[in-house]
Amino acid sequence: MTKALAPGATIGIVGGGQLGRMLAMAAARLGYHTAVLEPDRNCPAAEVTGLHISAPFDNGKALERFASVSDVVTYEFENVPVSAVRSLNEQLPVYPPPEALEAAQDRLAEKIFLNSAGVSTAPFASVDNDEELARALARFGGRGVLKTRRMGYDGKGQRVFRSATREEVKGCFAHMGGVPLVLEGLMAFEREISVIAARAADGSMVAYDPAENVHRDGILFRSTVPAAISPTTAETAREAAFTILSALGYVGVIGVEFFVMANGTLIANEFAPRVHNSGHWTEAACLVSQFEQHIRAVAGLPLGSTTRHADCVMTNLLGAEQEQATALLAEPDVMLHLYGKAEARPGRKMGHYTRLLPLDGELRHNPAGGSASLQKG
Ligand code: AMP
Repeated sequence: MTKALAPGATIGIVGGGQLGRMLAMAAARLGYHTAVLEPDRNCPAAEVTGLHISAPFDNGKALERFASVSDVVTYEFENVPVSAVRSLNEQLPVYPPPEALEAAQDRLAEKIFLNSAGVSTAPFASVDNDEELARALARFGGRGVLKTRRMGYDGKGQRVFRSATREEVKGCFAHMGGVPLVLEGLMAFEREISVIAARAADGSMVAYDPAENVHRDGILFRSTVPAAISPTTAETAREAAFTILSALGYVGVIGVEFFVMANGTLIANEFAPRVHNSGHWTEAACLVSQFEQHIRAVAGLPLGSTTRHADCVMTNLLGAEQEQATALLAEPDVMLHLYGKAEARPGRKMGHYTRLLPLDGELRHNPAGGSASLQKG
């Protein structure tokens, strides 16, 4: 796109979960309309978008209507059928490019791509039966993480081996669903970090400070910024994200997850071709959030500042934890975001909150208004 999308134009968003909801809200603040394609009638994005097309992602008629009302299309999750995105891209611009979606959907293709771009990953082997698993485990010293190549998220479809025996391997392929798998070496990392970065169509790129992430039961629990890493490691992470963005001719926001090894070296775990849960803190601690950044990129607007005005900790609210909302709102330095989901099932992401902490100055509380103002030291 050479020209920026004019206010009043419509950004089509494939997927109507919380990420779609927050993207639609950011688009509205920049004067854009949104249309959301999402089968679930009660999806979080439905109530904040002008048009919700409730249909399966591969429904031809729905895709036609979606394309006809949109000026540009983006997506909020990586399990959208690539064929649907490609058919949309024949009619109008789709960002990030379908190639990024394709690479991110298959853990094997993703690792091959990352290595070819010069970004290190865990050692890996394609596994399509028990014998291949046994051979790969023998190569990795009996230790590894077995993952489904496709449709895995939040640690689903994974099995960890620490000292695999023949018995343990028997029947494993069938047990994992008889689908293509990949075995990764079990990495003894010191911490996990992620970088949220963005690229515009003109090739300009920005990145936010890396966040340090803690997972519970495979689901992101907490992101802390800054991460406890050296400036060199932070710079290496940013550079790796930029390498990935350039190699893909990317437009939009990407989330790249890394393992930090004891010597400070980085191993890329995976990337998400979309806004990312570990970047939610940016809405509270930066002038331009990852959501606005993504909308800017896909709309052909200049990328925004990624400067942080506070340190912070973002925590997800899962299931019944949503009940903490009122107490959290009583705290002066907390920004709360709920997704408006009707049913608080265990483990379901219901919202998140970001607690701001002093940067290099102090958070000053205005005794009159109870609100926080920031002062640099
Ligand atoms: P993933 O679905 O690939 O993001 O994996 C979920 C979580 O499992 C990661 O955040 C890590 O904590 C852990 N994990 C995944 N792959 C590996 C690996 N190769 N070695 C050690 N831990 C891993």
